[in-house]
Amino acid sequence: MSSLAFTHLPHPNPTADDVRAVAIADPAFGRVFTDHMVSIRYKEGQGWYDAQVMPRGPLMLDPATAVLHYAQEIFEGLKAYRTDDGQMAMFRPHANAQRFNASARRMAMAEIPEELFVEACKALVEVDKDWFPNVEGGALYLRPFMYASEVFLGVKPASEYHFLVIASPVGNYFKSGAPAVSLWVSEDYTRAARGGTGAAKCGGNYASSLIAQQEAIAQGHDQVVFLDAVEGRWIEELGGMNMFFVFDDGSLVTPPLSGTILPGITRNAIITLAREAGLTVREEAYAIDQWQADAESGRLTESFACGTAAVVTPVGKVSRGDHQFTIGAGGPGQVTQMLKEKLVGIQRGRVADDHQWVLAL
Ligand SMILES: *Cc1c(COP(=O)(O)O)cnc(C)c1O
Repeated sequence: MSSLAFTHLPHPNPTADDVRAVAIADPAFGRVFTDHMVSIRYKEGQGWYDAQVMPRGPLMLDPATAVLHYAQEIFEGLKAYRTDDGQMAMFRPHANAQRFNASARRMAMAEIPEELFVEACKALVEVDKDWFPNVEGGALYLRPFMYASEVFLGVKPASEYHFLVIASPVGNYFKSGAPAVSLWVSEDYTRAARGGTGAAKCGGNYASSLIAQQEAIAQGHDQVVFLDAVEGRWIEELGGMNMFFVFDDGSLVTPPLSGTILPGITRNAIITLAREAGLTVREEAYAIDQWQADAESGRLTESFACGTAAVVTPVGKVSRGDHQFTIGAGGPGQVTQMLKEKLVGIQRGRVADDHQWVLAL
């Protein structure tokens, strides 16, 4: 237990059962929200205080609130699932708490006690568990986040922060199995440079990636692939997912955590599960030219992206300027499918959880 007790403010007007049933029957990602939120405040000299589970509602911000000017903001994304036996559970919430604090350090923000972060997520799932969408692949997507709430226009780390958790019921990201996505390689924009904020989960990284994502969509693709900022040669990651490459000898490559990519918890789980399945995983730089050459020669058989929201997403096609190449047969590959099934199996309690990744609630 954390030392801070949560005050529960009753909801004056909770969503009616029949309205909620319709809302969660087929929720689009991030559009439907539960009735409650968690709110905790921080002030320098005082520490964390005023932990509340309260009705979800708008925030009132002074126009000089620091985050609106200098973008001190970080977030996390994790899912609460119902395992096959009906129990609510979260996947590796302590890993999210640790990464949240790593992001906080990089953005010169206050760190939150790991246990308080996890307690906050639990408290929200507990009060809103009726919002769980009971469909295959359904989950409550939890979004813990924190912003600089001090009212001050001076450029310095804020002395006050507001931490919140909201929840959104989500269905299966892809309705009938995972279709393969097509990727657009951005040659004009980069996501992160050495010494920058690429390894922090901060809103600013997303703000700067949107124009490249917009370009990918305009070119008829689903997602953008970012290359390194120095040579424009090494594959880094997508806007919000890490990349894996599968070769015909059964080995895998994923770009190393060099400080410019986000250390994905799904990435980490996939590396562990692949090694346990007897596959070799190398964390090493992989060049865009090599990706194309290996796909064309058949040495590369599969590629996939991974992250909490979509779990594992196979890559079918890649476009780079005038060149286009296809990965394998253009659809989901065997290794991709096997790893996804293992991971989802652990989350749902169908496969033994040897690493204590699942925290039952
Ligand atoms: C959140 C995120 C990921 C995936 O991380 P998971 O912990 O697996 O969800 C990958 N890349 C970026 C840029 C992200 O923000």
